[in-house]
Amino acid sequence: MKCNPTDVPPIDEIDVAAVNEKYRLEREKRLRKEGQSQYVRPVDNFADTYEGDPHTPVAPRDAIVEDLDVAVLGAGWSGLTTSVHLRKAGITSFRNIDHAGDFGGVWYWNRYPGVQCDNDAYCYLPLLEEMGFMPSQKFSDGKEIYGYMQQIAKRFELYDNALFHTMVEGMRWDESIKRWRIATDRGDEIRARFVIMANGLLNIPKLPGMAGIDKFKGKMFHTARWDYDYTGGDYDNPVLDKLADKRVAIIGTGATAIQAIPYLGKYAKKLYVLQRTPSTVDARPNPPTDAQWVKALKPGWQAERQANFHRAAMESTILPGDTDLICDFWTEIARNMSAEMEAEGWPQLSVEQFMERRSQMEHRVMERMRRRVEKLIDDKDTAEALKPWYRFLCKRPLSNNEYYATFNQPNVELIDVAETQGVEAMTEHGFIANGQEYGIDCMIFASGFEVTSDLDRRWGIDVFEGRDGTSIYDHWADGYKTLHGMTTSKFPNMFFIGYYQGGLNATTTEQYSKQGEHITYMIKTGLERGILAMEPSEEAEAAYVKHLRETAIDNTDFVKECTPSYFNNEGEAKVNSKGEPIYRFYLGEGYGPGWAAFQKLLADWRQAGNLDGIMLDTDDQ
Ligand code: NDP
Repeated sequence: MKCNPTDVPPIDEIDVAAVNEKYRLEREKRLRKEGQSQYVRPVDNFADTYEGDPHTPVAPRDAIVEDLDVAVLGAGWSGLTTSVHLRKAGITSFRNIDHAGDFGGVWYWNRYPGVQCDNDAYCYLPLLEEMGFMPSQKFSDGKEIYGYMQQIAKRFELYDNALFHTMVEGMRWDESIKRWRIATDRGDEIRARFVIMANGLLNIPKLPGMAGIDKFKGKMFHTARWDYDYTGGDYDNPVLDKLADKRVAIIGTGATAIQAIPYLGKYAKKLYVLQRTPSTVDARPNPPTDAQWVKALKPGWQAERQANFHRAAMESTILPGDTDLICDFWTEIARNMSAEMEAEGWPQLSVEQFMERRSQMEHRVMERMRRRVEKLIDDKDTAEALKPWYRFLCKRPLSNNEYYATFNQPNVELIDVAETQGVEAMTEHGFIANGQEYGIDCMIFASGFEVTSDLDRRWGIDVFEGRDGTSIYDHWADGYKTLHGMTTSKFPNMFFIGYYQGGLNATTTEQYSKQGEHITYMIKTGLERGILAMEPSEEAEAAYVKHLRETAIDNTDFVKECTPSYFNNEGEAKVNSKGEPIYRFYLGEGYGPGWAAFQKLLADWRQAGNLDGIMLDTDDQ
């Protein structure tokens, strides 16, 4: 079915210069000089509440002492899809190790009311054809995703080996046995030949460092640790009836908050929404999966759909003859542009002309979003405060059908804290915003995750030492240096999955899975050929990084000009040891020539069969 363009205003209704200036001013207003350090680690009793596991009791177990072929650190999507590849490759001696009580990663932890994925489920849920599974609707609920991850783990027999409620605290390469020595908080001593870091991006809840936070006598929790005992209801049935006599405040208006707020508004006696930066929140048509459509699907449909999504969302391209299969807010800019170009008979455009058109369409889409707020919000001041003033993709675009309507309820109050760059302080009985104290019973932190803080803080692994005692944190102090974004010199048999240096895909799970597949190839080759240690040579690594940088798309200006968020390290440049500022997008360093070109580079490398650029050690002396 053809997907129609959206009804965006013409560019001549927008004063682009004035809007850009407004973007700049709004950014300046929010830019905090403390940058990342405005967030703190929770301490004392609150650390347990904030980061402990409310979902599964921690069962005692004996410490494990063992030799293992592969330790996979993480049991979220990257760890799960990688273990599927390991299993399929016939590797049996491996384990997933995770802090959580089950497979699931973010979908294990996040069980707040309304939790749902913002990506097309037919792309996001991997292995659909192989598993014979079909999501029930376009945007899956968290529960469906979590359940599906458990199904995959069962089908590929990953449960027997998995170590849950286990936090890796130290890793040292031991040259005498050519293995990694892994220490955990359960006293385990695991000697793994290979280690795969599949430890995710959104794993540490972020806590705003507000004065007086330790004085508050009411209830506090983070959305990734939702306390249904306090709110009433449960994950299956989030009827938050215990909030009927409670005054609740929620900090944050990001992807998580906009899903939870309609539930809080519905049940709490009073709800304060503490907003620093408004999100763009579009409508969310979420039809059930059409059985006729499913019947008509041909083998290979999911890869085709993911490629279509990637072209439209990441490359802004829907070419003549191509259609937008995804047809949602992620693909709107590309869809609208291609509809207009089709109407003009597909004019030939230079790169500059294409980028100018894209920029105009982006302004038109953002203006549509602001007009949408005006239409849906009754109170004028509230509507003004909810309007987003930044470039599309400076923040993750969102959709929800109930969010804006919640602000028309008499028990819900939006408190804009942009002028003070966040909530000023907490007190014994509530919080202070714009100089006024508000009494509350409960503070909920929808304040996100530590995406851009230093690696040691994010990973929680105090000691991480490769060859000759080199610490990974020193090794990468001036930025990543890797071969293909997955291995690094001085760290033999160590592999990384995530956002480092390589191709990015619009479907995160597809990206992780392809990384897992490549790493599995390397490990299998190592095991088959009796290779005890493999690591990239410094020359190969340097050559790859040089190639990556020479072909990179420079997005410095975009990152610099965006409103602060975890996307751009809170608007702060990272400074390298030469004192040079580096404005980095949180997604690491992408591969300029694109996803398909990166996959070809990896496939050609594997095809050559000689592990080019990798130093091999087969000496067991
Ligand atoms: P975000 O980092 O996106 O949002 C955190 C919110 O907390 C922001 O609104 C931020 O304001 C606010 N905040 C932080 N500190 C303060 C402060 N001191 N005072 C007031 N406000 C403050 O976190 P989320 O959990 O919402 O989302 C994180 C990511 O998780 C998403 O980007 C997405 O990748 C993923 N996610 C995906 C979902 C999906 O698919 N549906 C659902 C939920 C999450 P400011 O913007 O000004 O910094």
